[in-house]
Amino acid sequence: MQRRDFLRLLGTGAALGVMMPFAEVLAAGSVTMPGNTGANGRVVVIGGGMAGTTVAKYLRLWGGTGVQVTLVEPNPTYISNIFSNKVLTGERTLTQLSYKYGTLTSKYGVKLITKSVTAIDYVSQQVTLNDGSKLPYDRLVIAPGVAFDALPMSGTAAAQAKVVHAWQAGAQTTSLQAQIKAMTKADTFILTIPAKPYRCPPGPYERACVVADYLTRTAKTKGAKVVVLDANPGIQAEVENFTYAFNNIHKNITYVPNASISSIDANTGTVNTSAGAFKGKVVNAIPPHRAGKIITDNPSLANVGGRWAGVNVLSYESALSNIHVIGDAAATTQPKAGHVANAEAKVCADAIVHLLRGEAVNPSPMTNSACYTPITNKTASWLSVVYRYDPVTGTMLPTGNGVTESSGINKDNHDEMLKWFSSLMADTFA
Ligand SMILES: Cc1cc2nc3c(=O)[nH]c(=O)nc-3n(C[C@H](O)[C@H](O)[C@H](O)COP(=O)(O)OP(=O)(O)OC[C@H]3O[C@@H](n4cnc5c(N)ncnc54)[C@H](O)[C@@H]3O)c2cc1C
Repeated sequence: MQRRDFLRLLGTGAALGVMMPFAEVLAAGSVTMPGNTGANGRVVVIGGGMAGTTVAKYLRLWGGTGVQVTLVEPNPTYISNIFSNKVLTGERTLTQLSYKYGTLTSKYGVKLITKSVTAIDYVSQQVTLNDGSKLPYDRLVIAPGVAFDALPMSGTAAAQAKVVHAWQAGAQTTSLQAQIKAMTKADTFILTIPAKPYRCPPGPYERACVVADYLTRTAKTKGAKVVVLDANPGIQAEVENFTYAFNNIHKNITYVPNASISSIDANTGTVNTSAGAFKGKVVNAIPPHRAGKIITDNPSLANVGGRWAGVNVLSYESALSNIHVIGDAAATTQPKAGHVANAEAKVCADAIVHLLRGEAVNPSPMTNSACYTPITNKTASWLSVVYRYDPVTGTMLPTGNGVTESSGINKDNHDEMLKWFSSLMADTFA
């Protein structure tokens, strides 16, 4: 399969090995909704991010009117993390990355509840919302994304408030953008990367590149430096492209592997690590991740190191019956990425529709991930990988040559990246 085919196949489910007997996506904006397909039941989805919104949409699109889907999400607007690194450099605004749930309700008949889930009773099969009300389910899909560990930090409250991760697009992104804008050519931007697994493996290296690019392009900051403190032993994705970019395109980047944080002094901007102490004007510290709180509150769900939810990747059913976990919160062999969250959601939706009909699930699902990475404001690289279910290990394994990265960093990739992003977000929210 060619990389360009991913764009074409995003909306069809065909790339996933998913059967589509009752639904047909004709084109963006033109959808034939099925009637009752024989799948009947109440499905509650927790979290309206990349995974939860996609599963809600495709449950209706493939399951039909007998599948009553309720999406519970506290925020009326979803802000995409994807492309949020470009907000830091002023190339995008958070408003441009904001998505509403109107189409999900009007076009697909998903019921939206703008609240959060505070508890799950898996015996009586109901969830409790933050207003105390209860919502019963036949199948529950949990897609809460990630939560972040607290970092070992000292300093005044005001100084500590400036040390942000901006790894969940929103107010912290705005704060970090302002701090970068206030830098001068004598300043250093420190970016810390947690040990894997974290969401979007290429994302931190991408951030280092676009910030370094911005600092060099801007007269006031030309000469400013970027120091990347990576808790991992090496670059975690697109090794060749990022190594090339750090050595040849952004010579103002210093990359330091094996740099686990022991403490941060927010007053002085000093980051103490296993690879030494580093001082910066701006400290952008990305903490270690774990699954969203609604998962880690339930030890039976957070059964992988107490941090992530183990799932059967044929259906994304967790250790608890009738409860599925998708997206970043699930522990699988696939990366924690928006494109993968979208793909997992379709496999999960297809499986639930079959289960509600009393049928077997697809025994050989496929998923794919195509990730584009801006290296400058005009160029990008990419990686792509297709996963197939391996019955021997019970995991999703890369097919063919495994993860492929682009053989160059160029403008064509940047142009294609814009199309890829539009397709992915349309497949999720439109
Ligand atoms: C800077 C950056 C760049 C990235 N770039 C890319 C990229 O180029 N390509 C790519 O594929 N991925 C990228 N990603 C990763 C991508 O954003 C995530 O992998 C993706 O958002 C995961 O989807 P999710 O649905 O699991 O979680 P999220 O999208 O985070 O959604 C989780 C949702 O659950 C809701 N929620 C949480 N708890 C509850 C609760 N108790 N009740 C109700 N709702 C709840 C939250 O409000 C949120 O809306 C990037 C990430 C970052 C930070």
